[in-house]
Amino acid sequence: MDWLRRPRNWILIGILIVLNYVVVNVLLAPQPPKQVTIPYNVFRAQIPADNVTSVTIQGDSITGITKNPVGDTPTSKNKATHFATVKPPFADNELLPLLLQHNVTISAQPVNPPTPLWQTLLFSFGPAILLIGGFLYLNRRATSAAGGGVFGIGQSRARLYDPERPATTFADVAGIDDAKAELQEIVDFLRQPQRYQRLGGTVPKGVLLIGPPGTGKTLLARAVAGEAGVPFFSVSAAEFIEMIVGVGASRVRDLFNKARQAAPAIIFIDELDAIGRSRSGGVRLSGNDEQEQTLNQILTEMDGFDSREGVIVLAATNRADVLDSALLRPGRFDRRVVVQPPDRAGRMAILMIHTRNVPLAPDVDLNELAQQTPGFVGADLRNLVNEAALLAARKDRDAVGMEDFSEAIEKVLLGAERKIMLSQEDRERVAYHESGHALLGLLVPGADPVRKVTIVPRGRALGVTVQSPVDDRFNYTEEYLRARIVGALGGRGAELLVYQMATTGAENDLQQVTMIAREMVVRFGMSSKVGPLNYSTEEGPGPLALQKPFSDATAALIDEEIKRIVQECLMEAERLLAENRSRLDALAQALLAEDSLDEAEILRVTGLKPQVVTAAMTAAR
Ligand code: ADP
Ligand code: ZN
Repeated sequence: MDWLRRPRNWILIGILIVLNYVVVNVLLAPQPPKQVTIPYNVFRAQIPADNVTSVTIQGDSITGITKNPVGDTPTSKNKATHFATVKPPFADNELLPLLLQHNVTISAQPVNPPTPLWQTLLFSFGPAILLIGGFLYLNRRATSAAGGGVFGIGQSRARLYDPERPATTFADVAGIDDAKAELQEIVDFLRQPQRYQRLGGTVPKGVLLIGPPGTGKTLLARAVAGEAGVPFFSVSAAEFIEMIVGVGASRVRDLFNKARQAAPAIIFIDELDAIGRSRSGGVRLSGNDEQEQTLNQILTEMDGFDSREGVIVLAATNRADVLDSALLRPGRFDRRVVVQPPDRAGRMAILMIHTRNVPLAPDVDLNELAQQTPGFVGADLRNLVNEAALLAARKDRDAVGMEDFSEAIEKVLLGAERKIMLSQEDRERVAYHESGHALLGLLVPGADPVRKVTIVPRGRALGVTVQSPVDDRFNYTEEYLRARIVGALGGRGAELLVYQMATTGAENDLQQVTMIAREMVVRFGMSSKVGPLNYSTEEGPGPLALQKPFSDATAALIDEEIKRIVQECLMEAERLLAENRSRLDALAQALLAEDSLDEAEILRVTGLKPQVVTAAMTAAR
């Protein structure tokens, strides 16, 4: 009866019923004979005249048939053999004997005739049926609109909880080998639950995947399901937030039930921090009951089953620090797998995966690309390959070349080129600004190698100097941080040296500089006056985070120290640039002529040699 589901069909049925009623009762019904209403005394007079043949009495109203037509007055033209009249309430006691006496057929009807069954039914159930019909109709509409519907509340939406059977395997995941290795155990268990049960080994119920966005947490969860060949139930915790109170909880219940029926299976909860935020930490600005209930339901469900049932919950978050401690207790998400951004070898492996189906020109060196993309995570690298392929397609190439990749990296990193006209004077200022950055990148000990410098406007910047390390770095020396500040001040330093005047072009540089200097003082204990203390105020939820964990005197000292560091660095920058004024001029002139210079060209123009150092990618504007 699928067609009954469609509201249009219901309306059609309704119209048909009404039509049928009209046809049967109105059109096909026998036409009642013409009837006149006559005064009672006229009727009364007809009886002795033997003109009345039959009457029907119902209470006080009388209808009847006469032999000869009657009218309300003897002269009336409106006459008929069928008449109706009303007996006065003060009873005419002689009427009945009179009628009998003149052989009139008498029939009587009860005053309140029994209502026909269909009417009774209609009047008692009609409103209810109408209501239900309307509700059904609205529900259908809601269903098609939202996929849930009013009745569907709390029931899993088919789309949502229909398990997938991902074809993803570990071969599709690269660069996060530690995480893969840790999840291998889960795969083994899901493949052969009996083996683990027999030995009584404990398999985790919940595994928390922690890592920055785009590192492949979802991919990894899918791959676990794919490797084990089990159904994959996935849900994003963020979806629960918008639900009506109580719905999230019943969804969770439903999700777990379905997964248990399908066991062995994997439940994947993305963005767990959306509902799993700590309830104690800070002040909750929105008293979100739904969040609370959903979270509690997840906890209840996780407590309620045994991992030997074969359901394993994987959850992803990029902020494990804000999670409610109740989630991390034993028997819940007690296993934590950290998914790190990939290192150079990892990036290369990821690039290999994503270029599997992309025709590459012979000049493409994935290792070189991996080196140029520190800080890129899996999702970025996938975008990069995609962007390069699009660029190559736009140029009608058959294969994606290194040039396309370089362009794609710049686009991803710096934003698209901007077409604006700068005056010659402005171009010169920008050229000196960028040359200042580039030159200091080569001169300051510990600075990252300068890969490229350009005065082609990109994004919000008028020019860009790209510096990137030889390899990834995870620990930074004070020397390196100072080198970063000096380099970032190279633009402002060059402006001051050449024009004795500052411009607004250094805004972004100054932001970076201030941030690095502040971190040096409050986080890394690199100021002897402030001392080896960590005064950093982590951003926390609620207004409590605004409280500073240090005295006003310390605050003043911190500000002073930040300023001292930055000012020392600016002096250093100005000194180095003044000492190398001829190099600065040469570089600026080359930039004005060429717009962009790559690493080799920069070295040639300045006559400097590359430093041997390592660190994370920086882009000074
Ligand atoms: P997360 O869940 O950590 O935010 P995703 O798993 O959604 O990240 O990653 C998005 C996409 O980026 C994946 O579908 C995949 O194509 C690509 N990707 C991310 N990390 C990796 C990786 N380690 N190896 C291969 N591809 C990856
Ligand atoms: Zn700059």
